[in-house]
Amino acid sequence: MGDDSAIHIMGAGLSGLAAATVLAKAGKEVHVHDIRDDSGARFDGDFQALENWSMGVDFFEQLKLWGFDLSEFKATEFDTVDLIHPDDVITQATTPSVAYRIVERGTSDHTIDQGFKRQALAAGAQIHYKSRVKEEDCTIIACGPKGTSAVAYGEIFHTDHPNHIGFQLNDKLAPGSYSYLIIIDGVGLICTCLWRKQKKSDRFLNQTIAWYEQHYPELNRTPIKRVGGKGDFTINRNYKQDGRYYVGESGGLQDFMWGFGMRMAVWSGVLAANDILGKSDYEEDVRKHLMPYVRTSVANRWLMNRVGDRTFKMMCKRWMKDQKKRGDGLIWIGKLFRPTWYKSIIYRVTSPFMLQKDPKALGRGVRRMPFRKALKRDEWEPTAEAKAIATQWNDIRRGGAKVSFTKDSETDLKSQ
Ligand SMILES: Cc1cc2nc3c(=O)[nH]c(=O)nc-3n(C[C@H](O)[C@H](O)[C@H](O)COP(=O)(O)OP(=O)(O)OC[C@H]3O[C@@H](n4cnc5c(N)ncnc54)[C@H](O)[C@@H]3O)c2cc1C
Repeated sequence: MGDDSAIHIMGAGLSGLAAATVLAKAGKEVHVHDIRDDSGARFDGDFQALENWSMGVDFFEQLKLWGFDLSEFKATEFDTVDLIHPDDVITQATTPSVAYRIVERGTSDHTIDQGFKRQALAAGAQIHYKSRVKEEDCTIIACGPKGTSAVAYGEIFHTDHPNHIGFQLNDKLAPGSYSYLIIIDGVGLICTCLWRKQKKSDRFLNQTIAWYEQHYPELNRTPIKRVGGKGDFTINRNYKQDGRYYVGESGGLQDFMWGFGMRMAVWSGVLAANDILGKSDYEEDVRKHLMPYVRTSVANRWLMNRVGDRTFKMMCKRWMKDQKKRGDGLIWIGKLFRPTWYKSIIYRVTSPFMLQKDPKALGRGVRRMPFRKALKRDEWEPTAEAKAIATQWNDIRRGGAKVSFTKDSETDLKSQ
């Protein structure tokens, strides 16, 4: 790859660009390679949430400390979220601070991906799109998911509904996981996450949309496109091996329970850059700062895999009771994400059974959370309303609307 002193990064997503910015600012020659034709192209306009409850420090404060410019991308703050219980009761989780910041992923100017790309370029990094490189030739591996542990499907639509977020725990609509509604400045997203592999998976999105249409009658939804993708959840024996740093989703650094990964992607990119600059040790830093949360999320995922709507309802009630007592809805949910001794025991006992070895991972001892099989209760027929939504989408799709996840999805006009 030419000059040996140059640093080559595989992947121009959040983790790769974060690392590139820190390194280029320190005067290093940095080349970032991405197989797609732009940063954010993996996502294409979906909204993602930066939760603000899992750690003591606010992520935006961290970003400032690391030298990132927050004005480079649009982030919309929410202090209140509709918490939608499995029996369709809707309550509000609320906080005096910030519950969520919603950012857009994709290739538009205001997305977080483009904001990070501009900062990497301004720092002096060179980005090569449509560039295929070998893992062995790169110092930082930041290329997102390899395998599939879970999937998420969503529809983006125009709406005149005011800004809003809904977070729904409902095992029928989102098997083992959650669905959500996000509306920002006239654009909405309804998304469902499947932590169990399904046949005819589009029926889950159609049924979820039907649910939101029924319970939010003022949605006034005009579909634009469908988005989504897969998530890869792994535990690695080594995060740095043979001089290579595995960051973001390439290192499995994500929340196994609900799939939050942006914060750890950026954080791990910064930590890898700091190691290369001789400021710290990546392996040590990942184990100290990130792994306690990842391991807790594995324990949470193990528990979630064992429950259904009855426990989800209990969780919602406890959350609301705690909020009433403390006046802050973030405290209860924050505790769920924080490391504790008993979660650490659950992790140790259950992870050998829960995770499967990946023999192709260059001897890094990667263990992946497999995409779980469907359960009997996942077999159901869509309602007439959901079928009408499927028909509506097929018509729009035939008219040229895009689906950004054809490779990851079973979406197929025949499967409706
Ligand atoms: C539908 C969906 C919704 C999500 N919602 C949330 C959310 O609300 N909140 C949250 O925190 N997280 C969310 N996540 C997770 C989050 O998107 C990821 O954790 C995060 O993007 C990982 O960042 P990364 O840098 O590792 O990968 P990415 O940001 O995906 O970047 C990887 C880059 O590598 C490139 N690439 C791939 N293969 C190669 C190759 N062979 N060579 C070169 N380049 C390559 C890709 O094109 C891409 O640009 C969601 C994920 C999905 C799929």
